[in-house]
Amino acid sequence: MSMIPFIDLAAQQARIKDRIDAAIQKVLAHGGYVMGQEVRDFEARLAEFGQSKLSLSCANGTDAIVLPLMAWGVGKGDAVFCPSFTFTATAEVIPWTEAEPVFIDILPDTFNMDPAHLEAAIKAVRAEGRLTPKVVIAVDLFGQPADYPAIKAICDREGLRLIADSAQGFGCTLNGKHPIAWADAATTSFFPAKPLGCYGDGGAVLTDSEHDWQIMDSFRVHGKAVAPDLKGEVFAYDPRYLNARIGMNSRLDTIQAAILLEKLAIFAEEIELRQVVAQRYADGLKGVIATPKVIDGGVSVWAQYVIEHEARDALAAHLKTQGVPSAVYYPVPLHLQAPYAKFGQGPGGLPVSEAKAGVVIALPMHPYLDEATQARVIDAVNGFNG
Ligand SMILES: *Cc1c(COP(=O)(O)O)cnc(C)c1O
Repeated sequence: MSMIPFIDLAAQQARIKDRIDAAIQKVLAHGGYVMGQEVRDFEARLAEFGQSKLSLSCANGTDAIVLPLMAWGVGKGDAVFCPSFTFTATAEVIPWTEAEPVFIDILPDTFNMDPAHLEAAIKAVRAEGRLTPKVVIAVDLFGQPADYPAIKAICDREGLRLIADSAQGFGCTLNGKHPIAWADAATTSFFPAKPLGCYGDGGAVLTDSEHDWQIMDSFRVHGKAVAPDLKGEVFAYDPRYLNARIGMNSRLDTIQAAILLEKLAIFAEEIELRQVVAQRYADGLKGVIATPKVIDGGVSVWAQYVIEHEARDALAAHLKTQGVPSAVYYPVPLHLQAPYAKFGQGPGGLPVSEAKAGVVIALPMHPYLDEATQARVIDAVNGFNG
């Protein structure tokens, strides 16, 4: 029996191959491989899509999270609150700045940050007095928006900034709005398997702040002087050789931007197709298994379709015999992993994150999953007597 693809990137490529080939050839012809016109064009289109004033592309979705932290001067003695049940990158960038992550539990139905636990953690950190609460990083896990109205209200009350790590959720909405409606910065990844992926690494930050954009632009290009640095100053040479801060090299390649322009053009339609696939799963698995719940008013982009089963590993083995691949996101929450074990947690620990890690299993999911193939997946799941 042939193995079904977990994410079929070839189906999308076949659909737009001519346009992608032409876009790549255009870059090869003009030769602006780094920060070429397509990068500017893509940033404009991405901001438009994500309902932000501006967007800043960068080398990957991990740098996209650290760039706003750097721009805001987050550092030693600061606490940054984030989930533990997420991809490592969400928390990894926090110690880069010398700030410390404080891990927050998730809600059992959406897998996203528990606002009540966040609030309790902020109070506990203030009471302890060692760290200063500065930033919250909420994650749009598996593609659906976090509870932004609740999280934003807490951030406003406590004077914290909010990052939406939308690497899996870019394109998701809550009550018709994208995460930037609440967040000070929304970040995404163009890793090929993400809902909006390129053919390599890439990432972006969405922001409504011209000043933040300028400072992040400086950090992504080695700390070059940008407009706010040059105010009232005369520098007779190329300002890229005047360094205003210690930065990094985190640019999106022009070829990737050219590819992303073509992929973004069909992304809204693909999000619709993902709803159809998710609905077929919900209908086909109804009553047999716990299917995902999306927050009220939310639209998920279904980066992953994650179900829960007590005999998860046996189910995965059974699916494999039926030619159905599956994946476990995430088998060990970050607070239980060696490099992160020393960091803080909200009061009472993270029992939901720990319980979910043992039961989650992701099924094949992409916009081009046809009905017959999906029926094979559904039959295989329903045929498991674990
Ligand atoms: C993929 C991912 C990232 C990091 O993206 P890269 O482009 O691989 O660096 C960050 N956060 C989450 C939640 C992710 O899934």
